[in-house]
Amino acid sequence: MTRAFNFSAGPATLPESVLRQAQAEMLDWNGVGASIVEISHRSAEFIAVAAQAEADLRQLVGIPDDYAVLFLAGGATTQQALLPLNLAGAGQPVDYVVTGHWGKTAVKQARPYAAVNLAADGEAGGFTDIPAASQWRLTREAAYVHLTANETIHGIEFREVPEVGAVPLVADFSSSIASEPIDVSRYGVIYAGAQKNLGPVGISVVIIRRDLLERAGQARADIFDYRAHAARDSMLNTPPTWNWYLLGLTVKWMLAQGGVAEFARRNAAKAALLYAAIDGSGGFYRNSVAPAVRSRMNVPFFLPSTEMDARFVAEAGKAGLIALKGHKAVGGIRASLYNAMPLEGVQALVAFMHDFQQRNG
Ligand code: PMP
Repeated sequence: MTRAFNFSAGPATLPESVLRQAQAEMLDWNGVGASIVEISHRSAEFIAVAAQAEADLRQLVGIPDDYAVLFLAGGATTQQALLPLNLAGAGQPVDYVVTGHWGKTAVKQARPYAAVNLAADGEAGGFTDIPAASQWRLTREAAYVHLTANETIHGIEFREVPEVGAVPLVADFSSSIASEPIDVSRYGVIYAGAQKNLGPVGISVVIIRRDLLERAGQARADIFDYRAHAARDSMLNTPPTWNWYLLGLTVKWMLAQGGVAEFARRNAAKAALLYAAIDGSGGFYRNSVAPAVRSRMNVPFFLPSTEMDARFVAEAGKAGLIALKGHKAVGGIRASLYNAMPLEGVQALVAFMHDFQQRNG
């Protein structure tokens, strides 16, 4: 069996040891005589798995006690709709800083529930830079300020936490959570779909300052209510147990590898290697994102023609470097370098890029 280097943006590559452990435990988890996915979420066994995953995630990310951690079915897009419902009064202003595709989806999900103010929007510049925080048009009475910490498609990442005063900062960390140390206390809410750095698709993590759970928000069923989920330890209904279990294994693996400080070091090295290959190609490979805000997680780049982009993707796939096709919204190539992507994968990609240019440049 050969595992390729998988550069998918999500669902994404997972540590081989995690997949092997899941495989080994698939028929009989820990001697219970059944798989973890075949037993009740209310069983002592599953409750222990869930609690351990939360404790490990708290340790990994450095989540203070005054924050609740929710594990919810569904993706980040669902949270983008639930955030205004839970945090804003009907028609209350909410500020959005849009630096790429996922900031736009966050706006789209919020519009039915709140008065969205585009505090800043990088679209006119083709999402190649983050508008300076000093230029943002923030609303004093906004329920929150929303930003996308890492734009998975456009390859743009906030490298520092902006100062937004007393209004809580809400950040979509779907594609960069646990990739480096962050100061959780600077945020009101951090949310992430798990399918990049935390494990499998189908579960999202919401890290929310407990006082924000007391916001009245808007009329909503309790299944859409963060406070109700927090009160029931995210088991208001049947949670995605398999996803939660796999997330727990992935988080344990990250802790054993040295935690976020170690991943910050590895991720910086991987990204530096790939950007150096792009910038050193004499224009054959191009990435037009401002260097100060280039993403360490998702690296989009373009060859001289769309025909060459396609050939690059096809030939790379044959060489064991898979899922390099760029998102349809922007085209080109995209290499996602999440925590589970080893340096050797990026070294192999860079060697392939060099070889491809020699043959086609
Ligand atoms: N936000 C970001 C930054 C993403 O990368 C994605 C998915 N790639 C989403 C939101 C949407 O996530 P989901 O498909 O899980 O709803």
